[in-house]
Amino acid sequence: MKKVCVLASGGFDSSALIADYLDRGWEVHPFYARSGFYWEKAELFWLRKFLLRLKSKKLKPLTVADVPMKWIMKDHWSMNGKGSPSSRAAWDSVYLPGRNLILLSQAGVYAATHGVPVVALGVLKGNPFADSRPKFLADMQSAINDALRARLKVVAPYTKRSKHQVGAIVAKLAKRFPLELTFSCLHPRGVKPCGKCSKCGRPAPSSSVLSSSTSADRRDMEWGRK
Ligand SMILES: [Zn+2]
Repeated sequence: MKKVCVLASGGFDSSALIADYLDRGWEVHPFYARSGFYWEKAELFWLRKFLLRLKSKKLKPLTVADVPMKWIMKDHWSMNGKGSPSSRAAWDSVYLPGRNLILLSQAGVYAATHGVPVVALGVLKGNPFADSRPKFLADMQSAINDALRARLKVVAPYTKRSKHQVGAIVAKLAKRFPLELTFSCLHPRGVKPCGKCSKCGRPAPSSSVLSSSTSADRRDMEWGRK
């Protein structure tokens, strides 16, 4: 059976990737790194609900790796929630230094030591960050394989797709995609999204968009345009 470790954040993109792989018959090992970020309690709450709802025997239990970041982020907004970027903030305001470097190194070691030959990320078309680019992902794959004498593949199947296009993929899955259980917010109130932050301003496709949309919707769903 084909096996994949998917970096899961509870957001639309990585949740779509998990459901998509399951639909294609893969065994999926969801992987979450807990670093002490302000939104993690809410994120994990929704991610666990989402995974439960998928009700698939091919879905393995969520692995949560503790990778504390407080020592380097200190009083950054990502740690204390003070001054989280709003929906009008610059595109690069949500950048977290070394995020994918850390995530991939952890997930890579997990996958290589658990007989899972593929690590997948839900990176979409137009993601502007250096640690989401194909070269970086290829370099990480080499580094992990050199370090562990493994033959792991690091893949990002949605890099040529917009959020809308991923919406079209999940609309066609055999099982209904539990869109209402995906979550992405920098400043949740309890487990509810704040509605004001940069992530809330760039929502997942609505359920109606999952089945049909206008060209304006399509444009807005492109990474960073909304
Ligand atoms: Zn928010």
